[in-house]
Amino acid sequence: MTFSELATYLDQLEATSSRNALVRILAEAYKACSVEEIEPITYLIQGRLAPFFEPVEMGLGERLLMSAIATAYGTSKEDVTKTYKQTGDLGLTAMSLGPKTRDDTPSVIEVHQRLWEIAGLSGEGSLKAKLDLFAALLGDLDAASAKHLVRITLGKMRLGIGDPTVLDALSFAKKGDRSLRPVLEAAYNRSSDLGLIAKTLWAQGLEAIEAIKVTVGKPLRSQLAERLPNPEAVIKKLGLVGVQPKYDGFRVQIHKDGGVVNIFSRNLETMTPMFPELVAATVSLPVKSVILDGEAIAYSPESEEYVPFQETTARRRKEGIDEFATRVPLRAFVFDVMFRDGTDLTPLPYEQRFAIVDEMLKGSDTLQTAPLTKTDSVEVLTRELLDNISRGLEGVVAKRLDSPYQAGARNFNWVKLKRNTSGELTDTIDVVLIGYYGGKGKRAEFGAGALLAGVYDSERDEFVSISKLGTGLSDEGWRDLHKQLSRLEVGEKPARVNSLLVPDVWLQPELVVEVLADEITPSPRHTAGMVGDQPGFALRFPRIVSFRSADKKPEDATTVREIREMFQQQHQRAVRD
Ligand code: AMP
Repeated sequence: MTFSELATYLDQLEATSSRNALVRILAEAYKACSVEEIEPITYLIQGRLAPFFEPVEMGLGERLLMSAIATAYGTSKEDVTKTYKQTGDLGLTAMSLGPKTRDDTPSVIEVHQRLWEIAGLSGEGSLKAKLDLFAALLGDLDAASAKHLVRITLGKMRLGIGDPTVLDALSFAKKGDRSLRPVLEAAYNRSSDLGLIAKTLWAQGLEAIEAIKVTVGKPLRSQLAERLPNPEAVIKKLGLVGVQPKYDGFRVQIHKDGGVVNIFSRNLETMTPMFPELVAATVSLPVKSVILDGEAIAYSPESEEYVPFQETTARRRKEGIDEFATRVPLRAFVFDVMFRDGTDLTPLPYEQRFAIVDEMLKGSDTLQTAPLTKTDSVEVLTRELLDNISRGLEGVVAKRLDSPYQAGARNFNWVKLKRNTSGELTDTIDVVLIGYYGGKGKRAEFGAGALLAGVYDSERDEFVSISKLGTGLSDEGWRDLHKQLSRLEVGEKPARVNSLLVPDVWLQPELVVEVLADEITPSPRHTAGMVGDQPGFALRFPRIVSFRSADKKPEDATTVREIREMFQQQHQRAVRD
């Protein structure tokens, strides 16, 4: 496939506002792929060169790209700047300045390789070299291809293709329906690498997909927790459980392979440079290779207190990490081990995995096992919950002692119990911002404006509306948020957004916000959970608690299924009370 042919598919994907059409077009593109092409194409359509967890960056920002465009098309930088001002999109700028057609355009594989080469350049003189290579590449492409190439380079693809859409499209391309999705998804949960899955399916078929193993260096998709309303419900449903404190820190998946340590966030980004003290502690563990799961939390030795999430994540800024590491060093409370010295431990019952990790971490101060209390008593569980809350922690997580580690699953193997400020047991909801109101003209300046928020429908890979959010922010807070939002503004409703309400401005679904609401109510206006003529769900009196985009992707937002369960639990509580 030439890059130009891929660009035609990308144009079609860009033009559709229906998720089914996205799957169909992508499946067509996949059908036209050879074994060699399918892996790079899978990364490129998601605006990447490699899987999400590999920190491969092109290192070309807008200004450099503008120079490259000028060089490639023999125009002046002023011309490029002028066109950019008119179009507001550097991809469109390249398209309007580039030649409409071109003979002998390079293949997708060649373009991927040349981009890979650019990404690999570093050190003195590398910027100039990157620029030259990029300008040469642009010079080989037609205008429509140039548009997509520039967007890929900037990480601004905006096709709205989520992982489930890729998995569905692969299944359609191979089998003509969605039936392969469960097998593909299971392998994806173990490897987090869509390119690998696509290539394996094309080259070796379904059996080879089933044989894709847990591997050090490739993050597993995180196991997640379900909710139940109270300790009684937990004991009733799970029986004997292991209870652990729920730390409000930063989820870390720690991989050690000999002397090499990699740390991944909950959304599978590589975060290794952020955690030097965890890296050092992991290197000295008495194992050759290991994968651990835990929660990192900053601890202030002076006050002997844990530091809240927002401050822990302030480290994401590259500067000052060393200073942070001395002032508020991190600890990780490790609660699981998935792999050790060549053996996949995920099928073992939790009790055994816990014993293994507890033994392994003896003697480490920075990596500690999260203490585990076994009980089948409602009283003990209640005491643990209240105890942990009084120590400033979020609550507890109760785990089935006989459960395997189910990568990517949210089920009753783990159940979280939290308490909100009013004393009632509830949980916050993570919503994705999909639009805003009153954001134009004068009102925006004064900080007025409501947000339109959605949750994730994981079955349909769509974002569905659930609430309007008055921001409750100060003028300055709103202005700051507004700045972040303007980066995400789009002219039309994005393909994966499904909403009856039409905000003044649509947003690319990206920003995740944690909210607390009084109640979930049925609503004919919102599409979350709406089936046929049955109403959807809405949030009553939602308040913003925190911004979670540091550790959550839009697909990590609360799902429709969870909202439905929370609604039912709330209903049961109301009947019981
Ligand atoms: P939530 O993000 O509210 O769905 O809660 C699940 C999160 O709690 C996990 O993703 C972890 O980041 C965090 N967590 C804190 N302590 C624990 C623990 N002991 N076991 C499992 N998860 C924990």
